[in-house]
Amino acid sequence: MSRAEAILSDIFGFDSFRPGQREIVEAVAAGRDVLAIMPTGGGKSLCYQLPALMREGVTVVISPLIALMRDQVRALREAGVEAGALTSGNTEEETEAVFSALEAGRLKLLYMAPERLASTATAAMLRRIGTSAIAVDEAHCVSQWGHDFRPDYLRIGELRRRLGVPLAAFTATADAETRQEIVARLFEGRAPQTFIHGFDRPNIHLAFAPKDRPRAQILAFADARRGQSGIVYCATRARTETLARALTEEGHAAAAYHGGMEAEARREVEARFQREDGLIVVATVAFGMGVDKPDIRWVAHADLPKSIEAYYQEIGRAGRDGAPAETLTLFGPDDIRLRRAQIDESLAPPERKAADHMRLNALLGLAEAVECRRRRLLAYFGEAEAEPCGNCDLCDAPPATFDGTEAVQKVLSA
Ligand code: ADP
Ligand code: MG
Repeated sequence: MSRAEAILSDIFGFDSFRPGQREIVEAVAAGRDVLAIMPTGGGKSLCYQLPALMREGVTVVISPLIALMRDQVRALREAGVEAGALTSGNTEEETEAVFSALEAGRLKLLYMAPERLASTATAAMLRRIGTSAIAVDEAHCVSQWGHDFRPDYLRIGELRRRLGVPLAAFTATADAETRQEIVARLFEGRAPQTFIHGFDRPNIHLAFAPKDRPRAQILAFADARRGQSGIVYCATRARTETLARALTEEGHAAAAYHGGMEAEARREVEARFQREDGLIVVATVAFGMGVDKPDIRWVAHADLPKSIEAYYQEIGRAGRDGAPAETLTLFGPDDIRLRRAQIDESLAPPERKAADHMRLNALLGLAEAVECRRRRLLAYFGEAEAEPCGNCDLCDAPPATFDGTEAVQKVLSA
């Protein structure tokens, strides 16, 4: 058993690494600059926490959310690891305890909010305490045109330069543009060792269909899965209500969910979904962040999602238990117009709009693919797949012939 494996089981209590973790842990422990891209829930935290225990000195972890930092510190402490956080949420005693652990040379992981980096004293302090590595969680926060830009993340590159220590960056955002921005801003453009892993969800069946009669299409899809828990995503609040009603009239247990509902009503739907078998939630994208139900058997999109990332995140809520799950995404010309207009009308800067159009185009490319959809999807996220997946609509029924004839017939009959 390697040292990393011993720590994995003794401290973290896990039997084995998740896909991709071992390689990342080894590279980070060896002091290399690393960029690791793994989907949400893939197990990124372990990839900097475990190496921190293998290395001399303190690993500084930059993370954007105080609540997440506190959770991680609590879990690490419970496992017997010396970890602390310096955030604005600290009590004076907490901060003092962190500093005395640091002075005594006991601390292995120091979590820090990016705002701390604005203080010039911070770099001096980090040098004095023997910082030997920097880990950056949610590294896409350096991306100015991304969704979670945090200006203070731009100071991390400078900190790395001043400390002269290796840096490991972690994110679930995989598009090439964001990746380039991370490399430019955190690594001064010098390519780190890059790992892209774990995006494949082979148990999720992928399917798209032209939007023809959406209500009938969604009802038929739900009907074929009667009694199974599912989510129908819609582009508008009004549509969630009408579709939920239609499903209920067909004898399904269904509930609408959107950001315009009272918090209480939303919580009730969340709780019902969690405990009831076979409930269908018809929702806008407001439904998702907190959904942690392992046995969602299907996800349908009544309207085209806004980007390839949004699409994968939304269907990714199905089949967390690893058992087969089904998806269906409807798309039509009106959807494409709506999504384009939403981007154009947003107040985002032009560069961001261009990037959003690109992410929408990537989704349209996937919708109109003629060969294995999963291969195309994973290629977008940087993961190469040698073989067709055998678990998407295009692998089930290669379209080469009927698509062509259909298009030709339309032209001829026009
Ligand atoms: P991410 O940051 O990539 O979204 P987390 O680091 O929060 O993911 O990990 C997600 C969950 O997976 C956590 O509950 C964590 O304890 C668990 N986990 C991580 N690595 C392993 C492993 N090797 N074996 C089992 N569970 C793991
Ligand atoms: Mg995380």
